Amino acid sequence: MTFNDFNFNDELSEGISSMGYSTPTPIQGMAIPLILQGKDLIACAQTGTGKTAAFLLPILEKVGRSEKKHTSTLILTPTRELAQQIDQQVEGLAYFTGISSIAVFGGGDGHVYEQQRRGIQNNVNIIIATPGRLIAHLTSGVLKLNQVDYLILDEADRMLDMGFYDDIMRIVSYLPKERQTLLFSATMPPRIRTMANKVLHNPEQINI
Ligand code: AMP
Repeated sequence: MTFNDFNFNDELSEGISSMGYSTPTPIQGMAIPLILQGKDLIACAQTGTGKTAAFLLPILEKVGRSEKKHTSTLILTPTRELAQQIDQQVEGLAYFTGISSIAVFGGGDGHVYEQQRRGIQNNVNIIIATPGRLIAHLTSGVLKLNQVDYLILDEADRMLDMGFYDDIMRIVSYLPKERQTLLFSATMPPRIRTMANKVLHNPEQINI
């Protein structure tokens, strides 16, 4: 299998080559077709398996086909470091596509907050956020999530370990019901299932 099998658009294919990826990893081979078909997905996968690109590539393909004038994708992740790493992968893979992204995380000085606020106001296409800071932007009224088509919960078990359950559910309450939701987690304890039942719709499931 190669990335050509997915028929990604030329701009995205160029980004994939420029990142040095030639062969999809197992989770990419399984997840990408399901996500392209529009399915909700629960994926049990560890870091290092290529899980980030497994959700980014099909989402970038779909966002690339749309008008790119609003925030269509929200990625929630537990830590600042993960938010920045995902944003770097987006910037590399999406380099030739015209898709914009921003990492939104807590801490930092007023300048950081202001920079995030401006990105949000400019209708950035993809927001990669830690839940607490995203709530701050939501309650300030700057952030509108009513046009989000894709929600990704990354490292869901760690987010719950860090006490983000209520924040996640609150954020979800701002999203359109009609959307595609993907949940990635290294472990699948019962409370992840409980959350998945509330947030996902008829999900497919894959285990790596
Ligand atoms: P992740 O599991 O998402 O943390 O990814 C682990 C590392 O693998 C990251 O540095 C990615 O850039 C890299 N990676 C992801 N997919 C591929 C691929 N198909 N070929 C080579 N490297 C990849």
